[in-house]
This record gives sequence, C-alpha cells and structure tokens, in this order.
Amino acid sequence: MKKISMIVPCYNEEGNVKLFFEDAIKTYKNNKKYEIELIFIDDGSYDNTLNELREIAKTKECKVKVLSFSRNFGKESVIYAGLKSATGDYTVLIDADMQQPPHLTLKMAEILDAKKEVDCVCYYQAKRIESKLMSKIKGSFYKTMNKLSDVELKQGASDFRMFRINVKEALLSLEERCRFTKGIFSWVGFNTTYLPYTPEKRAHGFSKWNPYKLFKYGMEGIISFSTKPLKLATFLGLFLSILSGIYLLIVLIQKIFIGRGIPGYPTIANLIILLGGIQLFCLGIIGEYIAKIYMETKDRPIYIIKEEISNDK
Ligand code: UDP
Ligand code: MG
Repeated sequence: MKKISMIVPCYNEEGNVKLFFEDAIKTYKNNKKYEIELIFIDDGSYDNTLNELREIAKTKECKVKVLSFSRNFGKESVIYAGLKSATGDYTVLIDADMQQPPHLTLKMAEILDAKKEVDCVCYYQAKRIESKLMSKIKGSFYKTMNKLSDVELKQGASDFRMFRINVKEALLSLEERCRFTKGIFSWVGFNTTYLPYTPEKRAHGFSKWNPYKLFKYGMEGIISFSTKPLKLATFLGLFLSILSGIYLLIVLIQKIFIGRGIPGYPTIANLIILLGGIQLFCLGIIGEYIAKIYMETKDRPIYIIKEEISNDK
C-alpha cells in the first residue's frame, strides 16, 4: 500500500477544513492501493480554524498531523514546513478551501503509479474563473517572468501538485528564505505532467490575495529567479550616453552651420528630471536585490511552530 501525504495550508479556513477532511476520507476510505496522511498547517489563523483542526485530529480514519504556526508566515513557508513533515511515497500540495477538491488527487496518484518516468503531476487552470482583467494581468506576469528569468513557468500552473520522494527532497534542499514555490518547482526540474482542471468556487471565506499582494509576489518571483533587471541599468546607461552624444552633435551642427541658439533652461530641466528618474529607478532595482541578500544573510527560520498535534494512527 502506498502512502499519500497531503499538505494543506490553512489560514482562516474555519468553514472549510471539515469539508476538506470529509472529502479526503470519502475518497480514500475503501481504497486498497493508497492510504493518506493529512498534514494541516495552521498559518497563524485568528478564527476558529485551529479548534476545528484539533477536532479533526481525533479521528481514527487516517493519520492526521496539525502544525500551528506562531503567526502568519505565508503559504510558501507553510509548504516548506509541510514538506519536512511528509513521510508518504507521494506528497501533494492542496488548498484547504475546496477549490482543489481532494478527490482529484486520486488521478494524480494513478498517473504516478502508471508512468514510472513521471516524477510530478501538476494541475493547471484550463479556464480561469477570475475576472478578465485579473487573468490578463496574470498572463502578462507569466510572459514577463519567462522572458526575464532563468526558469520557465507554465501559464496557469497551480501549486496543486503531487510528486515523488525525489522531488520532495530536491525541494527541501533549497533552503532559501524568500521562497517562490512556482519558480522552485521549475528550478529543480524533474519530469512533470500537466493536467487541465477548472477550480471550484471557494466553499467558505475569502481569498487571501489582493492586487498589492499579487504585485509583491510577482516581484518576488522575478528577483528570486533572475538577475536580468540588474543588467537593465547598464543598458539604460549605455543607451542614454549614445543618445546624449547624438544630441550634442546635432546642437553643435546647428550652432556652427546654421548659427541657431540653443534653448538652455527647458532642455536642462527636462534632462535633469529624466536622468534623476532613471537613476532612482536603477537604484531601486539594486535596492531590491540588496534587501534580498540582507534577508537571506540573517538566516532566520522560515517558520516557527507553536503547537503540534498528531493522532496515533
Ligand atoms: N494560505 C496560507 N497562508 C496565507 C495565505 C493563504 O496558508 O498567508 C492558504 C489558504 O488558507 C488556502 C491556500 O493557502 O488554503 C490558498 O489561498 P487562497 O485561497 O487565499 O488563494 P487563491 O486560491 O485565491 O489563489
Ligand atoms: Mg483559494
């Protein structure tokens, strides 16, 4: 019998965790091929999620582990903690909000069983359920990211993935603090199969994303997996030097051959503003990288566990 470890991040999911648990149990109850281990990670929820998880952990149906963080560390830290706890032959990352129904994991496991050459099975959103504007923004992010970075991200690929032990160990070997899981998956490589799916509507509660968080997440992805923005400063500098050389030539020709005066004040004011802006922009990019170095060198833990509960299955 193979064991599937399900890593379930929970941040204020009081209305969903029980539904999730019931669907997972229903799917695997009489299954002769697989048993499941549920790893719920409470990411500093301030609603009743932890109490709901305590109740779930009393079950005798399957192994349940609950890790409760001391505060909200974010989904990327949750995934890392979950990977460290997972003991299954296959590990799956799956949201608690029922957008990714647990019964879909069965198909992933069957693919891993049938195809020995496949190491990871990933669901991607065939049809996005969010607004047109949001899917346009996300689409352009994937394009920019793929152009700028050294990793290749598949459009719409989610964190809803199941993989073998070798992939889990590779993911754990990357111990960086600023974790951009989509990039990390692509960076470690391995043979991945993509399956289309349409996410369900959230059963209860709200999405934790807003435009600002998405922007920060996108920046994180680019900075963590590419140094190309740093080179932008060099190219901009070079480009502007050539441009100013041409401008100087034009001004000189006008002065010598046509005898036309040079409009001084507006030209200088414009150039100062333009150059000041570009310099600040480049400094900002460098600053982003220095901030990342600063955070990494502090070597703080990726998460802190306040409480650990486990049933004796
Ligand atoms: N989540 C988390 N920590 C956070 C934000 C989200 O553990 O800081 C969990 C959340 O409980 C859910 C999953 O990550 O199980 C996905 O979050 P959400 O549904 O908000 O994202 P969306 O589906 O809208 O992309
Ligand atoms: Mg969701």
